Amino acid sequence: MATSASTSYNPASLSAEEFISHEEILETLRYAEENKRNEELIDRILEKARPKYEGGKVRCEGLTHREASVLLACDLPEKNAEMMKLAEEIKLAFYGNRIVLFAPLYLSNYCVNGCTYCPYHAENKHIKRKKLTQEEVRQEVIALQDMGHKRLALEAGEDPLHNPIDYILECIRTIYGIHHKNGDIRRVNVNIAATTVENYRKLRDAGIGTYILFQETYHKESYEALHPTGPKHDYRYHTEAMDRAMEGGIDDVGIGVLFGLDKYRYEFAGLLMHAEHLEAVHGVGPHTISVPRLKKADDIDPAKFNNGIDDETFLKIIACIRIAVPYTGMIISTRESEAVRGKALRVGISQISGGSRTSVGGYAEEERVHDTEQFDVSDQRTLDEVLLWLMRDGFLPSFCTACYREGRTGDRFMSLCKSGQIQNCCHPNALMTLAEYLTDYASEETRETGKALVETELTTIPNERSRTIAAENIKEIYASNRRDFRF
Ligand code: SF4
Ligand code: SF4
Repeated sequence: MATSASTSYNPASLSAEEFISHEEILETLRYAEENKRNEELIDRILEKARPKYEGGKVRCEGLTHREASVLLACDLPEKNAEMMKLAEEIKLAFYGNRIVLFAPLYLSNYCVNGCTYCPYHAENKHIKRKKLTQEEVRQEVIALQDMGHKRLALEAGEDPLHNPIDYILECIRTIYGIHHKNGDIRRVNVNIAATTVENYRKLRDAGIGTYILFQETYHKESYEALHPTGPKHDYRYHTEAMDRAMEGGIDDVGIGVLFGLDKYRYEFAGLLMHAEHLEAVHGVGPHTISVPRLKKADDIDPAKFNNGIDDETFLKIIACIRIAVPYTGMIISTRESEAVRGKALRVGISQISGGSRTSVGGYAEEERVHDTEQFDVSDQRTLDEVLLWLMRDGFLPSFCTACYREGRTGDRFMSLCKSGQIQNCCHPNALMTLAEYLTDYASEETRETGKALVETELTTIPNERSRTIAAENIKEIYASNRRDFRF
């Protein structure tokens, strides 16, 4: 496969402009355009990406950003159909029918940045600003626990005065400290602005799961125009954040772009180059990739941005990411409709949010409030409705958070993933956490459907010992208040 002729590109560099080299992306896009109907090459790339089954194990090689960009550019209908099928096969091989659930928790919408696509930008004078007190955090978390959530993604704007790192750390302590009825939050992922190594160390010490930071766009010029004011304007500081996070000891990082800001093929190549960079420097790629699309919100009209992508293209991007980085979790939020989420789950997504409120303090309110929302929620179903829908569609909802709590993070996690051993944990953990949900939170219909599913799925655990232990634990969950079993 051709590689870069450009001089500045170096995946192992610590300088943003070298590991996300603009020239390399342009060269990649040219190469992809030239080869988008090169059937021989496309077949070779698909063959390379196909799962290989040996000795009861499955292994996938993944693709480089150049190879994956050829697939994304391809406009041959039968090859595109083959790609979607391959993405489904890879998804099934590594994730089975499991879908992990989480919820975002908005702590504060104070923000000093000027991001032109986000209603929390500092110039928006009419949005109501709110920051949760610790008592309000408690109420939110109790409401989330009462829904059945175990895994949160914390969200906060960047504001050193209102939301300093100590505030975020205090919230994390509060959240981990709440055990309401049989509920607890077992993994707190954090999505806050790029910060210093020292602050990342503090987040690590507070026991966060994944540190998530979206690049928004990898196109430097667009990035600077879209972030005209505030500390986020600094492209380099933002793009190199994951290296500082890893230096600070955070093993699991989550990346993503906001599709719709710049040209999607450019973003796609940049995203994969970022993953290659993390692998080259830290020996482990991103733990997750998120695929948000620009949405309508207060003060934001997506029609003003002319790089929007249709559903078909969006699903193809998801499929191509799944093929290129088979071991990386993929996340989709309630920005997307039920219909799009349903299709996205088949071709690559492994984690979804459910029952989300994107306003500050939204979960403790009876009615959905809009005055502090970050974006319009397309999928407004309750968590219970989402679960029932997943199960009826052949998926197995999971509230598992075991890996990070068992110390399976970073390269340890990836090597277990790559050797296929992780599968022995995911499936029984999914069943046990689903059994908890069914016992403590489910509606009658969801409980009945879920219990039947758990019975059937138990028989598919290949290892006899794991099967027996999982079955015993599930019996105990149904009959008592004992919780939090895990492999
Ligand atoms: S995207 Fe983040 S940094 Fe930008 S305005 Fe919104 S909350 Fe602030
Ligand atoms: S066992 Fe680990 S990889 Fe599998 S679902 Fe649980 S946390 Fe995720």
